[in-house]
Amino acid sequence: MKITDLNTGRDIGSNCLLVQIAGFHLLVDAGMHPKKDGAAALPRLNELPPLDYVILTHCHLDHVGALPVVLRKQPRVEIICSPASAIVVKRILRNSVSVMTRQREETGIKDYPLFTYGELDAVERALRPVPLLSPRILRAGDGSEITLTLHPAGHVAGAVGALIEHRHRRIFFTGDVLFHDQETVPAAQFPEGRLDTLVTETTHGATPTRPEVTRASETRRLLDTLNATLAHGGSALVPAFAFGRMHEMLTIFHEARRRGALAEAPIFCSGLGVDLADYLDQMSRKAGWVNFRRHILTDLKIRPLENRFTPPGQDLAEKGIYLLSSGMLVEKTPAWRVAANLLDHPRNAICFVGYCDPDTPGGRLLARKHGDTFLFHGLDHVAHIRATVERFHFSGHAPREELVAFARRAEPRSIVITHGDPPAREWFAEEFAIELPGAKVTDPEPGVTCLV
Ligand SMILES: [Zn+2]
Ligand SMILES: [Zn+2]
Repeated sequence: MKITDLNTGRDIGSNCLLVQIAGFHLLVDAGMHPKKDGAAALPRLNELPPLDYVILTHCHLDHVGALPVVLRKQPRVEIICSPASAIVVKRILRNSVSVMTRQREETGIKDYPLFTYGELDAVERALRPVPLLSPRILRAGDGSEITLTLHPAGHVAGAVGALIEHRHRRIFFTGDVLFHDQETVPAAQFPEGRLDTLVTETTHGATPTRPEVTRASETRRLLDTLNATLAHGGSALVPAFAFGRMHEMLTIFHEARRRGALAEAPIFCSGLGVDLADYLDQMSRKAGWVNFRRHILTDLKIRPLENRFTPPGQDLAEKGIYLLSSGMLVEKTPAWRVAANLLDHPRNAICFVGYCDPDTPGGRLLARKHGDTFLFHGLDHVAHIRATVERFHFSGHAPREELVAFARRAEPRSIVITHGDPPAREWFAEEFAIELPGAKVTDPEPGVTCLV
């Protein structure tokens, strides 16, 4: 089997693997780089051979964001994905078109949008949802056959890993994975038995695991912080990704309210996350492997964020919990605007519940100390950090040791490292060399075809 990493860098960016096996040319994911602008955010799609199939592991933009461009180049290619992803993919891409269109207006990047609303219909028509854990025989143009099985990968609603079997060879792509239950998504169920090739994500390779930090302990700590903030007459901002993490938080709040563990106060929630609640509800009812119901929003009496402008630095009149995107406090998002109102005031709290890239406003805020200043670019506001700023750990990715343990059980002869920054990849390469000394480990050079 040959693999070419079409991501433009050795990082978590425009994830896209070209796989050649038997007579097949497959693409696993086609993502858009979250930190690059314009056409530079796309994977290397220029030299694509005619594809038989695209396998989509899940609907985060770093995996799905370039899919319409693949379809433009190859209109007849079929996209294999989970039934849950098939429900939400168009909605996620539609939002991406709106964001890119706005960015074009604001920054003048001429490439944007990289695709149009009209092109999303082609994506929708190309979707071939495959039920989870049901082997499916695929045929290539030259008549050769492989068997594909999608395995639940935890991580986010609809996420799968892909097992490809050809003759007696077994190749497995983890996609992004979490081996523990979340509120809205059950744990991954990966294949048992030996694998020949394992293509693994390495997100947390450079993150030492802290066994004392569990989802349960972080949930308690978050609820304690929210309750203390509300009890002191403050407001709490919980910045969260609109797809998945926001629904995790809603489920945690719902459950906590039910058992009296979350103080009564209004919860404000707006935009894409609220809209996606309908999609997650549909995914739960029609596709399975997702647990989220729309009534949670009604039960929690979720209120939309008011459009009324409060000048930055001035505290919001209505006290409550503001559960808003973006999770990294990206500029001009609702979470960023509300942060500019809350940060100067000691009774308030900002509770990060997801990963923040160091180059985002969220990452920059987390790097500062209480009492420091913090500049809200674009609002011309220099805040003094007087609110509580806390980080809570609810990662959707497996701790590194659990991925190594999976590899040890699977005893692959060949391992391919993907989806990680260089230090994360190095940790895995060293660990695999110790734990699986017989295995060939490949950390593919972007754009270079490797025999694996
Ligand atoms: Zn992901
Ligand atoms: Zn990812």
